[in-house]
Amino acid sequence: MYFCIRDDDTSFFTAPDELERAYGEVTKHGPVSLAIIPFCRAGNSKGVPAAYREQWSIHALEENGALVEYLRRGIAEGRYEAMLHGYHHDELEHRREFLHGTDLARKVREGKRYLEQLLDTTIRVFVPPHNAIGKEGLQAITAAGLHLGGVAGMRHGWPWWSPSCLGIWWHLRRRRKNGLDGLPYVLDVPGHKELAGTPITPAAVLRKSLRRFDEAIGLDGVFCAATHYWEFGQPVTDPDATTVGDHLYKLVRRAMADSKVRWQSVGAVMTGSPPLGKRP
Ligand SMILES: [Zn+2]
Repeated sequence: MYFCIRDDDTSFFTAPDELERAYGEVTKHGPVSLAIIPFCRAGNSKGVPAAYREQWSIHALEENGALVEYLRRGIAEGRYEAMLHGYHHDELEHRREFLHGTDLARKVREGKRYLEQLLDTTIRVFVPPHNAIGKEGLQAITAAGLHLGGVAGMRHGWPWWSPSCLGIWWHLRRRRKNGLDGLPYVLDVPGHKELAGTPITPAAVLRKSLRRFDEAIGLDGVFCAATHYWEFGQPVTDPDATTVGDHLYKLVRRAMADSKVRWQSVGAVMTGSPPLGKRP
């Protein structure tokens, strides 16, 4: 089974210390894939510091030199992978950049090239801001040769005429009917692959995460933990974890304790693991 960690919202506003506090120890054992905003707009996302929130100013990643240096080193050492997380991320009136926005093909192309040059790396995965994407967004990432961190679905851009999409759609429906949430495979849809994450947030419950984890082990599938470094300290109501960070670290320990688990970056999992169609 593959295990990977996806962390969203690294941007100009991220201090290297915040990432180091969250992942310094974790990345001694395996990589963390960071979804990075190239030109962060200070809107109403919780990842934007309160002092900047709703200023609507735009901040390029390169303006935070200490962070760029930290990321370049971490990526070169294989501790981090860079993924593209939108272009500006926040839009006025809670509009979703890759669901309601325009000019998305250019934004994906430019955002990808910008991060690749700045961080000296190759971007393989796109993570949509607020997990929201539509048909134009999907076409934009496919044209740029990227895979999707998340699942779009029929209502958000999968081509309804595609037999593979219909097959996956039917399979997901059956899973939901059987009470199975989460999705322990990489999906092979026309032009790109998609990988669902298991949200590790203040509302998440460790026991549910472990249930998904065990299903993925049983199927030799994939478990992708999706989290935010900026809410690691937040308390949770879950009786089995004290904070969001504690929830993630417990999953990491579970992954490390099992010899069947292969811990890789999200990009490596998506480009290397067998798609759903090949599963029994
Ligand atoms: Zn985000």
